[in-house]
Amino acid sequence: MNLTNDITRHLADLVAFPTVSSASNLDLIAHVETILQPLGAHIRRFPDASGQKANLLATIGPETSGGIIFSGHTDVVPTQGQAWSSDPFVMREADGRLFGRGTTDMKGFLACCLAIAPAAAAMPLTRPIHLAFSYDEEVGCTGVGSMAEWIGQSDLKPRLAIIGEPTTMDFVAAHKGGLVGWCRVTGKPGHSSQPDRYVNAVMTAAEMIAEISRIREDMRNGPTFEGLDPPYSTITVNIVHGGVAGNIVAENCEFIWEMRIIPGESDMAVFERMQRFATEKLEPAMKAIDPACGIAFEIKANIPGLRPNEDAALDTELLKLLGRNQVRYVSYGTEAGIFQNAGIPSVIIGPGDIADAHQPDESIAISELTACADFLQKLVETCR
Ligand SMILES: [Zn+2]
Repeated sequence: MNLTNDITRHLADLVAFPTVSSASNLDLIAHVETILQPLGAHIRRFPDASGQKANLLATIGPETSGGIIFSGHTDVVPTQGQAWSSDPFVMREADGRLFGRGTTDMKGFLACCLAIAPAAAAMPLTRPIHLAFSYDEEVGCTGVGSMAEWIGQSDLKPRLAIIGEPTTMDFVAAHKGGLVGWCRVTGKPGHSSQPDRYVNAVMTAAEMIAEISRIREDMRNGPTFEGLDPPYSTITVNIVHGGVAGNIVAENCEFIWEMRIIPGESDMAVFERMQRFATEKLEPAMKAIDPACGIAFEIKANIPGLRPNEDAALDTELLKLLGRNQVRYVSYGTEAGIFQNAGIPSVIIGPGDIADAHQPDESIAISELTACADFLQKLVETCR
């Protein structure tokens, strides 16, 4: 089948750009533009502050509202330290699967979009199809915001965004949100035989972490969202650095906290509880010894959760196109909540299995890709 060949060819080309999140994605974006521009697509770029990366928005069809976004990220996770059987950036085919970094997460979806684009461009569409390709998803969904906000506020406001993260073409309607950051404690160092004269950053951090454990306990007994695993919010601390010697009161201690919040609950409320504990319960005693002591927080990444759509008719339409009978919820985060917060109904439907993502010898079944292209074509038909 011709379409399968087109998907495979596009995917091989996309895999060949080593767009790990730390690198520029501009070569890949330029390559995509050379495919879409001759089709008459209206191209918009949303560069990052460094000018080394950009989001790409390509609109096929009329510049009107009510269209559909097909969205995916162009960046991939690194391959260092992984045992690959062949060059991760040279795609190879075996046993009905395509191997290479990003085949599942998520250049396979991008290849499907490119493969169906010529047919979409040839159709007399009354509403547009937007291909929205982002950067920096794998480092906390920090790239897509400028593009999502722009399109949500523009005259092009679409009726739906499909985020093509791997769901084995299931309809995923919700996931938790994530908030991740540092807590940095500054103490006052001195000889450990006189601990009352100084401020111990390690022991202060321990009190902060104990409060986080209490928050976690409250989350376990708090609101639930059935269908998620676990169905309640969670918070963890997985890295701590602090202190320099066994007999010096520690001057510095820092740790990373990470929370995963069910849809409908506020990550900022939890963050404020942490800050309040620091300013009200811990800092007064620290500052009494030295005003320079204190506790600082820094947010590293904020991935909004995805709530199920309120529009039941839209869910029914998508399930029918997919030939499925129920929606699913997942535990990983995506860019979908960012589009949803920009006012665009958003769902996650894409080819491949998330279990294959980020792995050595990452691969995707060709049958998943053809099923995805078929689904995207049906959605294009709804824009006639
Ligand atoms: Zn992904």
